[in-house]
Formats: sequence, structure tokens, C-alpha cells
Amino acid sequence: MPRVVVVGAGFAGMAAACRLAEGGADVAVFERSPRLGGRAASFRERESGEDIDYGHHVLMRCCTAATDFLTRIGARSAVRFQDSLSIPILCAGERSSLRSSRLPGILHLAPALLRYRPLSFVERLRALRAGAVLALGWGDGDTFADWLARRGQSEPALRRLWEPISVATLNASAEEVGVAAARKVFRDGFFVPHGADMGLFARPLAEVFDAARRYVEARGGAVEVGAPVSRIAFDGSRAVGVELSDGRRKDADVVIVAVPPEPLSVLAAGRAELASTLETARRLTWAPIFNVHLWFDRPVLDDDFVMAVDSLVQAVFALDRVRGAAGGRHLVLSQSAAEAWISRADGEIVRDLTAALREVLPTARDAGIARSLVLRHRHATFVPGPGSDALRPTAKTALEGVFLAGDWTATGWPSTIEGAVRSGINAAAGAVLEIQQRCLFTPGD
Ligand SMILES: Cc1cc2nc3c(=O)[nH]c(=O)nc-3n(C[C@H](O)[C@H](O)[C@H](O)COP(=O)(O)OP(=O)(O)OC[C@H]3O[C@@H](n4cnc5c(N)ncnc54)[C@H](O)[C@@H]3O)c2cc1C
Repeated sequence: MPRVVVVGAGFAGMAAACRLAEGGADVAVFERSPRLGGRAASFRERESGEDIDYGHHVLMRCCTAATDFLTRIGARSAVRFQDSLSIPILCAGERSSLRSSRLPGILHLAPALLRYRPLSFVERLRALRAGAVLALGWGDGDTFADWLARRGQSEPALRRLWEPISVATLNASAEEVGVAAARKVFRDGFFVPHGADMGLFARPLAEVFDAARRYVEARGGAVEVGAPVSRIAFDGSRAVGVELSDGRRKDADVVIVAVPPEPLSVLAAGRAELASTLETARRLTWAPIFNVHLWFDRPVLDDDFVMAVDSLVQAVFALDRVRGAAGGRHLVLSQSAAEAWISRADGEIVRDLTAALREVLPTARDAGIARSLVLRHRHATFVPGPGSDALRPTAKTALEGVFLAGDWTATGWPSTIEGAVRSGINAAAGAVLEIQQRCLFTPGD
């Protein structure tokens, strides 16, 4: 039975581990942190006793690998998809929505766009035309903002339509995002009926990772937390296992390293074969996201989520409602591309965002806030700038027996759960192929 070590238990590592355990490999996962999940981990919040995700996450229905992963491990019910896309939008005291119609193909959002009140009628028509050109076009090299400017998009159209979508889906402003990454989001998501239906996690993500752990263990594998790997062990240029920080050694035929570039450089320190991969990956820039949890003293939101435009507030989720409780009291404000905010004091953040929220959400104006919590992540996702795909390595490395996984590797997807899951599956497939080539699998295995 081939032995595989997976380093890192985020979505990438656990997707790889589950796939390999399913295929009959002897899998051992080592996770540095005391929790599974990496950037998608959860913790028990002391005062409320609630399990809260460090970062509030959503999926879109086009995230098919992620949904398939959840289904395989028996955690599909953790996410609840809309029957069809509907995003309530708050702008200047008015409410509109981006809602899918029954029209086919790219036309499904046309009626919503033609009724989109934050833009003038002429801006709506121009946005529709730009959308069609985006869907049909190709090429990289431009920022999304430059591309939009050349398609006659006004400043309000940028601010009230394109920028909020860029920030919400790619965690970067249209000025940073490459047009290729934006096109991917629109082509797979918004321009396909149901592609962008929102999937809200009705359960804490810890439950997803517990299911993944059980899946691996039920197939004879092992998942260890609080177990940092210090280096990959080699025999010449072939990986033969890993060394853990506590001095243990675990032998393996293949090592899948499912960590971001920085820890990877430590694990592979001194290996010239990975030097250029790491050098290139260092040119990826990373952007922050923070979440503000507000516990109101009464229900203030009747929707599972809303987006605000022309406001400091970006996306607001009613966590209690999403998790099936009566509510709208426990809100999570999810703030992306948050460079300007990330170093500010919690108190200031809560004060400014609460004031902005009360502007767009009148029901919150008279409600008191019983408690608040700010959770920040400085390196949440990499910025998919022009040409950034060329900086992402494939799963296969120049080192025999070493495969890379992680949302930052070459999947064609942005830095998301979907990208991470796909990367894990790619790495698992590469590992199986290499093991087969070494004839470690006997026919029929
Ligand atoms: C606040 C926030 C909000 C987000 N929102 C969304 C969203 O709504 N939708 C979406 O699709 N994506 C979202 N993302 C992105 C998503 O979380 C990531 O793309 C995904 O979780 C990355 O998974 P990964 O496995 O590639 O990496 P990680 O989750 O970073 O996992 C890497 C793991 O490796 C471990 N590790 C590192 N070094 C070692 C070592 N030496 N030994 C052992 N273990 C090690 C780490 O502890 C970590 O657990 C968000 C991210 C953040 C931070």
C-alpha cells in the first residue's frame, strides 16, 4: 500500500487526503495548528458559546469540485444554495437586487441589470454591453478597471456595480485584478444561469473538516493536529518522508505539501530544485479580509445576507438566520480588499462600520449592540493581478515524490475553497500517477 504524507489540513490538504484514502493509499495528514481548516478553520467563541469561522465563507454553485468534495465526505448539508441567484443590494437608502430571471444563458441577468437602480438607465445599457464583451472576449494583460474604462464604464458604474463584484469575489479592487480573473468569475458564475447562486454555510466549517477527518480515518488514514512538520526528508532528490518539529520522522513514498508559499520555503529549505518556484511565487501579493461580528439586542435583518454599495459596508450576513435560528440579531460584516482597515484598532473599526451600517440599514438605527468581535486575516487570498497565473506552480515539482497543493497553485481558479479543493485533487492525481510509474501499485490494487 503506497504511503502518502500530506502536510497541511486546509481544504487543499484534506481534499488530497480524502481522494488518496478513497483510492486505497495509507495517508497521514500533519497539521501545524491545533485545529483543522487552515484559513477556513473555526473556533468556539467563549462568551456566546457559538462555533464561529475565523473567516466567513460562501460558495457559488459553479464551485463544483468543492460541492462534490462536501458530498463525498457526507457534509453536503453544511452548505445551503439559493434556488436561483438573488442578491439584495442596499444603496443610498434604497433597496434593489441582482436577481436571476428565466431567460437563457448570459441573458438571465439582463432584466435585473436593466432595473438596477444604483445606475442611470444609460449606465445600465452600457454595463450590459460591457458584460457581453467580457463574456465573449479573451486575453490578459489589462487590469479590470482599465478594461472597463475602455468600454465606457462611468465612475458610478465602476463604484456601484463592477467594483463591489470584484471585491466580493476576488478580494481585490478592479484596479488590481487582471481582466482574465474577472472574466473567469463572470463566465463561470454570473453569466451562467445558476452559476452564481450563493451557497451559505449553515454549519460551522469545523464540522466540514471533522467529516473530512472521519472520512480519512474510516479508510485507515490518520490526521494529526498540533503537529508541525519541520522539513521534507530526502534521499538524494527523492522525498522519503517528513520530519516533525517534535523530532519524529514519518516515512512516505510521496509527500503532498498543501501549505502557502512561505511555510513551503521552510519545509524545502536548501532544495535548489524548488528555488525558482518559490522565487516566482514570492511575486504573488496577498490581500486582507476582516469580519466584524455584531450581536444586536433585537432582530435587524430580514434577509440571510445583503450587499451594500457606495458605503463602507460591503457584505452583511445574518449568521443566526443562515444557521436556521430565528434571528437577524447576530450579523457578520465581511470586509474584503481591506488594506486600509486592517491595522486599525478594533474599537475604531466597530464604530465606523456600525455607523455606516445604520446608514444603509434603517432597522439597525435604534437597535443596541450587545457585543462585537473583530477577526482579521492579513494574508487571506492572493491578488489575481494581470499575469498572476504565470506565477502559480503546477502540482508536480522538480523533486521526485513532492507535490504541491494550495489555493495559490495553478488551478485556473482564484484563491478560493474551490481552487484549494481542485489543487488537492490535482496533487492527489499526480501522486497516484507517480506511484504507479514506480510500480508501487500492483495491478488490481
Ligand atoms: C477571512 C477569509 C474569508 C474568505 N472567504 C472565502 C469565501 O467566501 N469563499 C471562498 O471560496 N474562499 C474564501 N476564502 C479563501 C479560502 O479560505 C482559501 O482559499 C482556502 O481556505 C485555502 O485553503 P488551502 O488549503 O489552500 O490553504 P490553508 O487554508 O492556508 O491551509 C494550509 C494549512 O497548512 C498548515 N501548515 C502550514 N505550515 C505547516 C507545517 N509546517 N506543518 C503542518 N501544517 C502546516 C496551516 O496551518 C494551514 O492549516 C477566504 C479566506 C479568508 C482568510
